Amino acid sequence: PDQNGALLQARNVTRRFGELVAVNDVSFDVLKGEIFGIAGPNGSGKSTLFNILTGIPFGPSAGRIIFMGEEIQRLPAYRISQAGLVRTFQKDAEFPTMTARENVVCGAVYCGGLRRDAAQAAADDALDAVGFDKRRQSLPAMDLSVYERKQLMIASAVAGSPAMLLLDEPAAGLTKPEIKELGDLVLSIRDRGVTIVLIEHVLTLLLKVSERLMVLNQGAVLAHGDPHEVVRDQRVVEAYLGK
Ligand code: ADP
Ligand code: MG
Repeated sequence: PDQNGALLQARNVTRRFGELVAVNDVSFDVLKGEIFGIAGPNGSGKSTLFNILTGIPFGPSAGRIIFMGEEIQRLPAYRISQAGLVRTFQKDAEFPTMTARENVVCGAVYCGGLRRDAAQAAADDALDAVGFDKRRQSLPAMDLSVYERKQLMIASAVAGSPAMLLLDEPAAGLTKPEIKELGDLVLSIRDRGVTIVLIEHVLTLLLKVSERLMVLNQGAVLAHGDPHEVVRDQRVVEAYLGK
């Protein structure tokens, strides 16, 4: 971390797809131990930003990304995740026919670079950390409920002991009570020492858990700062209503 306590620094990060500038000159810091929220209308570049940060499947067209004091924008994806920067995907990414526990072991092997025996222990810790029902750990992932698959997704990422976890719209598809439970889960993962960046459509969740909020619109930063002030910002209100 640098002297300001920033675990991650994005500097003038840009991603182009032909004519389209999906992420346009975005700069921000994520401080150690915080939950940093990211919101924005559909297509505003949120997921592309996670792709760029983790190199999955591509890095930035331009700009620098500094994680724990080191430039990572040219590293291959596996080196970024093993350096402690791990992401989840908006779409379900579990292996459907593998058991819940086997999925999390895979997460520990890939994200954490752990060997098989260490990965088993890490998986048990991670399943415990997300409160996954013990009796359901041996079920194929495809037989789990929507919320259990969210727990699984987070456990798989946490099993590698990341310093920073990037969550891409984890509340999608959840009921209101489940979203509340997810909020508590995110807070508890942070309290275990994992810095979190949370992309979310559900503003109530962002307001509940995030210390700071950045809003993207058409690839650029529209507003950032205190979440309650940001959501009242006239430009933010218009960006959402305009969609
Ligand atoms: P969000 O996650 O905020 O909804 P995305 O980051 O998925 O938005 O997309 C931002 C823009 O970039 C969209 O216009 C999308 O169509 C475009 N985009 C994303 N990925 C690609 C890609 N691989 N090739 C071309 N265009 C892309
Ligand atoms: Mg997205």
